[in-house]
Amino acid sequence: MGTGFWLASRSFRAPSKQAALAVVQEQRNRDGRLLGHFPYPEAKASRLVSIAPGMKLHRDAADNFRAMQQAAAADGVPFVVLSAFRSVADQQKLFFDIKAERNQSARDRARVSAPPGFSEHSTGYAIDLGDPARPQTNLSPAFADSPVYRWLIKNAARFQFALSFPTENPQGVSFEPWHWRYEGSIEALRLFEPAHRLQRAAKL
Ligand SMILES: [Zn+2]
Repeated sequence: MGTGFWLASRSFRAPSKQAALAVVQEQRNRDGRLLGHFPYPEAKASRLVSIAPGMKLHRDAADNFRAMQQAAAADGVPFVVLSAFRSVADQQKLFFDIKAERNQSARDRARVSAPPGFSEHSTGYAIDLGDPARPQTNLSPAFADSPVYRWLIKNAARFQFALSFPTENPQGVSFEPWHWRYEGSIEALRLFEPAHRLQRAAKL
């Protein structure tokens, strides 16, 4: 779709978010995915605990997260939390408002952000991490060259955290070296099983 369409349509009434969501929902894959992303429920507020100012994580993941944070700091590569739990309403803003602001199609937007109801962040198990010594690499593929990323690749599995979107992931989501999910509880394993199943199928 050319930019002309969007420029023209933006000068008229913008389509409602509900209408936009209905359109993208038609593109759901047969395994429940929407534009590559699996559906995820929103964590109950009672399950969330604070891990940093304004940042909450599922209580099952909090102890391991804190242990990982301390271990990284002790090794001289402290990291910062850029994003943790996001409600479906927050994700709605992040997906549709920024999509409109950047003049992106739903498909292009979905390569870098999940549609509401399809974000690992809404489970309370996902975190975005950054290197405080290199803030310019925040939420950028350049984070993959940071000491923090190298530390995570070597150590995160010990704390039951895994990279959700490595390079060439079968979901077709862009490489997100900053985005990690906790897989150290039965509930987390169950939630992320469809993603694992797809990964296994892609390797066959
Ligand atoms: Zn993320």
